[in-house]
Amino acid sequence: MLKRLRLLIILQKKLLIQLKRLQEILTYHFSVFKVTGIVESDILQKITEKIELSPSENNNWEKGRNRFFEICEAAAHNKVRLFIDAEESWLQEAIDRLAEEAMQKFNTSSAIIYNTLQMYRHDRLQYLKDQIETTDYFLGFKIVRGAYMEKERRRAQQMGYTDPIQPDKQATDDDYDQAVALCISNAERIAICIGTHNENSSLNGVALMNKMGLEAKDEKIFFSQLLGMSDHISFNLSHHGFNVAKYVPYGPVSAVIPYLTRRAQENSGMAGQMGRELGLITKELKRRRQEKS
Ligand SMILES: Cc1cc2nc3c(=O)[nH]c(=O)nc-3n(C[C@H](O)[C@H](O)[C@H](O)COP(=O)(O)OP(=O)(O)OC[C@H]3O[C@@H](n4cnc5c(N)ncnc54)[C@H](O)[C@@H]3O)c2cc1C
Repeated sequence: MLKRLRLLIILQKKLLIQLKRLQEILTYHFSVFKVTGIVESDILQKITEKIELSPSENNNWEKGRNRFFEICEAAAHNKVRLFIDAEESWLQEAIDRLAEEAMQKFNTSSAIIYNTLQMYRHDRLQYLKDQIETTDYFLGFKIVRGAYMEKERRRAQQMGYTDPIQPDKQATDDDYDQAVALCISNAERIAICIGTHNENSSLNGVALMNKMGLEAKDEKIFFSQLLGMSDHISFNLSHHGFNVAKYVPYGPVSAVIPYLTRRAQENSGMAGQMGRELGLITKELKRRRQEKS
C-alpha cells in the first residue's frame, strides 16, 4: 500500500513537471512600449529631421539609447517578445533606426523585437518591401492602420509639406491587406502581429494563413486587440485556435489619458466600434430573453 502511494506521488510530481513544461511552451509573453516614454520627443524629432543635437541633447540621446537597448536585451534574455509602438511620422525615423538596430542584434534565431507599421502612411508598404530585401535577420512587425491621422494631416497642411497619410480609407485598407499578405507569405522569416479591430482584416489574416497552409497556432502569427475592445474578434479567433494577445495599456495617468482619448475618438462614431459592439450586445440580450420565455 505504502509502495503504491509513493509511486503515485512520484507520478504526480512527474506529471506536474511535464505540465509546467507544456505551459511554458504554449505561453508566449509579450511586452510593449513607446520610445517617447524613454526619450524626449524633441530629440527624436531632431534625429528624424537630421538636425544636429546640442551637447546636452546628445547626452540625453545616449542615455535614451542605452535605456532602449537595455529593455530590448532584457526582453531577449527573458524570451519576451517586444513590440515597439509606432508614433507620429516626424519622430518615426529615429524609432525605426533603433528598432532596426535592435532587430539585427536580437532577432538572430527568431523575431523577439517587433517594429510597428502604420499602413495609413503611403510610404510604409515600400518600407516593408525594402526591409525584406535589404536585411538578413528575422523581422518582426506589428501591422496597424495608425492612430494619429487628424494630427498628421493638420500638421502637413499647416507646415505645407506632402501629407504622409493615404488619400482615403480604401487606400489604407488596401496597403494593410498587402502588408499582411507579404508578411504571411514570408512567414519563414517574418513574425507578425495583426493589430486591428477590423473584422475583415482579421478574417483576411485567417484566410491567408489557410491559403499558405499555416497552422492556426503558428507561433509567428498573432492577432491583437486592445483590452475591452472587439472582444468578439479576440474570443472567436481564440476559440478557433488562433493566437490572440490582448493589449493592456498602463502608465501614469497623464500619459494614459491622451491614449484613451484617442481610442474614444476612434470609437465614438456609430459606424465605429462602439455602435457595432453595442449592437452585438443588444442582439445577444434579446436572444437570451427569447430563450428564457
Ligand atoms: C493591438 C493594437 C496595437 C496598436 N498599436 C498602435 C501603434 O503602435 N501605433 C499607432 O499609431 N496605432 C496603434 N494602434 C491603433 C491603430 O493604429 C488604429 O488606430 C485602430 O486600431 C483602428 O484601426 P482598425 O484597423 O482597428 O480599424 P478600422 O476602423 O478599419 O480603421 C480605422 C483606421 O483607418 C484609418 N483611416 C480612417 N479613415 C481614413 C481616411 N480617410 N484615410 C486614410 N486612412 C483612414 C485610420 O488609421 C483609422 O484609425 C494599435 C491598435 C491595436 C489594436
